[in-house]
Amino acid sequence: MDAPTITDPIPLAQALMRRPSVTPLEAGALDIIESALKPLGFRVRRYKFGAVDNLYARLGEHAPNFCFAGHVDVVPPGEGWAADPFAANIRDGLLYGRGAADMKTAIAAMITATADFLKRGAPKGSISFLLTCDEEGPAVDGTKAVLAALQAEGEKIDHCLVGEPTSEHRVGDMIKNGRRGSLNVVINMDGKQGHVAYPHRARNPVTPLIETLAALKARTLDNGAPGFDASNLEVTSVDVGNGAHNVIAQRATAKLNIRFNTNHTPEALLAWIEDTASAAAQRAGVAHTLAVTSRSVAFYTDPGPFTDLLVAAVTEAFGAAPVLATTGGTSDARYIRDVCPVAELGLRNETAHMVDEHVAVEDVRTLARCYEAVLRRYFA
Ligand SMILES: [Zn+2]
Repeated sequence: MDAPTITDPIPLAQALMRRPSVTPLEAGALDIIESALKPLGFRVRRYKFGAVDNLYARLGEHAPNFCFAGHVDVVPPGEGWAADPFAANIRDGLLYGRGAADMKTAIAAMITATADFLKRGAPKGSISFLLTCDEEGPAVDGTKAVLAALQAEGEKIDHCLVGEPTSEHRVGDMIKNGRRGSLNVVINMDGKQGHVAYPHRARNPVTPLIETLAALKARTLDNGAPGFDASNLEVTSVDVGNGAHNVIAQRATAKLNIRFNTNHTPEALLAWIEDTASAAAQRAGVAHTLAVTSRSVAFYTDPGPFTDLLVAAVTEAFGAAPVLATTGGTSDARYIRDVCPVAELGLRNETAHMVDEHVAVEDVRTLARCYEAVLRRYFA
């Protein structure tokens, strides 16, 4: 195992990146973290749910408990890399490899920041880490399950910072204090196939599908919510697969996605889609089914003392103030928000999940200084 130093996050980042922890594999990454945290005085607990290994570590007994959260799993590297995606080599000041941006380097920065902060003495409260191997996958046996276990044990987290790559053009330019929700739905209409010249003998599923989609698109979901743009529904595919011009097809299918703000829940949106599709199907005398392929809730942490503290720490470390935003995809913060105020702050997301994923070495070092500034201000 590579022996990381506690002042430079890069050796620890490289050690983590050299473990091929493709979801849900731990591949030794959590072991490295455990052996980095224990000498600092952390009590480390591992939580295994199904095939997923998770880690929760805490230093200190008292409130407030500040938690760093994230994931050591990575998406599969795919083909076409210029070098081994798990070599974690540095070229021209850039660290290349799967997990460079999303988000092993950020975890290394958190641990380094904590080690540096502890040189000043024990925190007036507790520092904890909540790390999973199941963020990029189903996200069922990961953060969500650990939070439930911690709650059952009476463990309380007061504030949480997730190290997802949130920065856009320049590292430190964006903090996410919320995320939109997302809902993917497939609508199937099943009619009766027949000759187009004898429509009374067939039941065309295309007509109620079009009616359903038109009704769904016609509704203004909202005009925005605090911190969010308006919610939006997009039809992403309409499929009949009918090669013949003179045949009424048996089945018509549509796929849609809704990105929504805190005005909505997946359940309420789904009920609305069901009602709309059901009414159209009934009018046309066809059957309908809905399938949900993914769903996540929207969350929002109100700007206040916690976000002010993060903004001040970023400004100190990076020399410019970040913006608060709620854009982008989902993360495990959607589960943490049920427990405590949560925000996300990490590196640039430009190459996350891409071939030749990389991050500037100096950015990781600055992020570590930023996280240290967060701890210093939090326990001041
Ligand atoms: Zn991530």
